[in-house]
Amino acid sequence: MLSVGINGYGTIGKRVADAVRSQPDMTVCGVAKRSPDFVAESALEAGYQLYAIDDERADAFRTAGLNIEGTSADLVVESDVIVDATPGGVGAQNRTLYEQYDTPAVFQGAETPTVADTSFNARANFDDAWGAEYVRVVSCNTTGLSRLLAPLAENYGVEKTRATLIRRGGDPDQPGRGPINDILPDPITVPSHHGPDVQTIFPELSIDTMGVTVPATLMHLHGVNVTLESTPDVETARDLLEAESRIFVVPKDARIKGCGELREFARDAGRPRGDIWENCVWGESISVDGRDFYCFQAIHQEADVIPENVDALRAMFELERAEDSVATTNETLGLSLRERPPERSPVISEQACDD
Ligand code: NAD
Repeated sequence: MLSVGINGYGTIGKRVADAVRSQPDMTVCGVAKRSPDFVAESALEAGYQLYAIDDERADAFRTAGLNIEGTSADLVVESDVIVDATPGGVGAQNRTLYEQYDTPAVFQGAETPTVADTSFNARANFDDAWGAEYVRVVSCNTTGLSRLLAPLAENYGVEKTRATLIRRGGDPDQPGRGPINDILPDPITVPSHHGPDVQTIFPELSIDTMGVTVPATLMHLHGVNVTLESTPDVETARDLLEAESRIFVVPKDARIKGCGELREFARDAGRPRGDIWENCVWGESISVDGRDFYCFQAIHQEADVIPENVDALRAMFELERAEDSVATTNETLGLSLRERPPERSPVISEQACDD
């Protein structure tokens, strides 16, 4: 059993902890947090051993009546490996601590790629992390683009990718983020930094990205155009994406018109926290014009990197090869949205009852 410590128990850390706990070959050693808040309480209620980041913070946890086992340093000593899910830049600072105790670590997307031996996406470059000591799971947007581009590149070759990323302003637990009522080119400069991040997974890929940030918390939405090296048939391209275990091709008859309905669909399917671990590509948006492929895909930013963290751990410790690891992770988490035919009554009127 691989004993995994989670340093940073926020949006990503709590989900990684739950995912690790459901694996047959891993266990959660404990979780470390900065503040003694409701999230810390729910970690204890979930049965996780709780750690504070340092001695000073440990006192604050005790004062709040929260039982802790020690500090992040103790967790690093006791764990076989750390998943660092702290805010961007903190992970790089923490690497010194991990090195001090010779504990391998998985970092997240906001860290610079140089924090780790390799950047990681299970579909595209699993083997690069085989036996690695430090691995960085790329961001939610890069994960989403990598999953889409891998099958296209393998089957048709990619001449050039252009993607516009319409990004959620913040997560539901980030009241301080915005915009509240605006639409921001973000960054204003073109191309955005997302393309180079995708190139940490596909070094030879030609890709330009543009970023926009909108007042939403639900998901990111990507408008993608890929100029391929050969001419695909639209049905074949669609079949190709449907065969991907971490792409959910949204069927037309589901009548899912946007990100809100996607999240509702996931909640109805009984997903924990309403999480969608898959890319959601609208089947109707898949289009081909000559060698140009187009689609819209939605990415649940809080969720798509979670199975990737689990697979990164298996690659680092050489537990299972890519195909087996992905299958194990998918099965234990329950990535089966596409196996659930939508159960909806026929549309009587396009107007909703509460309009
Ligand atoms: P978050 O703010 O929700 O959680 C961060 C956690 O780290 C909090 O529990 C905080 O208390 C804790 N923390 C802060 N400083 C710490 C320290 N020094 N030691 C230990 N813990 C500390 O952040 P998040 O959204 O989970 O993001 C974490 C990482 O995951 C970032 O690299 C981010 O880019 C990446 N990521 C986030 C998302 C997303 O949409 N939220 C998606 C993909 C990747």
